[in-house]
Amino acid sequence: VLTPAQIKSICQAILDSGKQYAIKKRKPFPLMYSYYGTEYLGAAHGLSSILQMLLSYHEHLKPSDRELVWQSVDFLMEQEQNCNWPPELGETIERENELVHWCHGAPGIAYLFAKAYLVSKKPQYLDTCIRCGELTWQKGLLKKGPGICHGVAGSAYVFLLLYRLTGNSKYIYRAQSLFPVNLIKMEHLLYTRQHCFK
Ligand SMILES: [Zn+2]
Repeated sequence: VLTPAQIKSICQAILDSGKQYAIKKRKPFPLMYSYYGTEYLGAAHGLSSILQMLLSYHEHLKPSDRELVWQSVDFLMEQEQNCNWPPELGETIERENELVHWCHGAPGIAYLFAKAYLVSKKPQYLDTCIRCGELTWQKGLLKKGPGICHGVAGSAYVFLLLYRLTGNSKYIYRAQSLFPVNLIKMEHLLYTRQHCFK
């Protein structure tokens, strides 16, 4: 739908915004963003999905800008805390309040490292992606509904991603094992509580 020139100009706007913010806030890495004043890291509002998008169109970036993206990917990888990432830059994860959702945490950030691996073929990115999946499996079912953002489907998708990356049938088993629970939970919420989902 978009022409290469349009894609290039969107990527340039994203890069310019990230560079300006990082300089203004004196960040020790080249690209950063804030959303309503918060420096989010996760997939819903944060750095990880912005970098994932830029990597998806890396062939449209200048080599110097591509390098800034990789530096930021590596910076984000260094922010890992026991296979997870805090919602906000600089936060320490408290185990009792840990978020392991697509929107905040490993199940969403996994997609950035999957893309980084597919583009670079560097094994450290695949290893990080696998650690995201292990934590998602260890934490088990989310109790916040069947959706993607912070629900069961968002966790299940990580295993479909890992299956496609590795071909390991362990991951398809894990994705399938979340699926029936997801449907039962959705049916319960829709028909018992008469609750509507977006
Ligand atoms: Zn969410």
